[in-house]
Amino acid sequence: MEYILSVGTNIGDRKENIERCIESVNLLPGTEVVKTSALYETEPVGYDDQQNFYNILLMVESKLEPNEMLGACLGIEAGFGRHRVIRFGPRIIDVDIIFAEDKVIETENLTVPHPRYSERRFVLQPLLDLFENGEVYGTDIKPMLQKISDQEIEKISF
Ligand code: AMP
Repeated sequence: MEYILSVGTNIGDRKENIERCIESVNLLPGTEVVKTSALYETEPVGYDDQQNFYNILLMVESKLEPNEMLGACLGIEAGFGRHRVIRFGPRIIDVDIIFAEDKVIETENLTVPHPRYSERRFVLQPLLDLFENGEVYGTDIKPMLQKISDQEIEKISF
């Protein structure tokens, strides 16, 4: 199964956190990061009083089932010592499943495609790095991106 994972961080050494996270994903059983988007710096959405985020998308090939991949993502977050203090607040690492190919999943713990991806430029912009024609598993994301073009985002060198 091919997954698109979103990784974000706004505490500590943000570049190092992203690198460590990519290494952690590569260490999951039967799992390999096959492609990465560019790295972006973005303004926080939802709660302003915090540092800017670094965001990246990972295209991942994995034998893990979606619920196993969710568990793995939460495990990676836990490994970074992440504590949930403020909803949408600062976090050392956030790993979300954006897509699991064209699968639609709605369980108590997991919603895929991620319910808020279409409102977030820090997801839509890097999706264009991975899917250059804007067609993502049958969905054209270009109109979504136009709607939220006011959100600030900056490509940064890794
Ligand atoms: P967050 O605090 O944003 O990292 O939210 C994590 C929680 O959202 C987890 O406990 C998951 O059960 C739930 N969740 C639902 N859908 C997803 C998804 N597509 N990717 C990651 N977490 C999800």
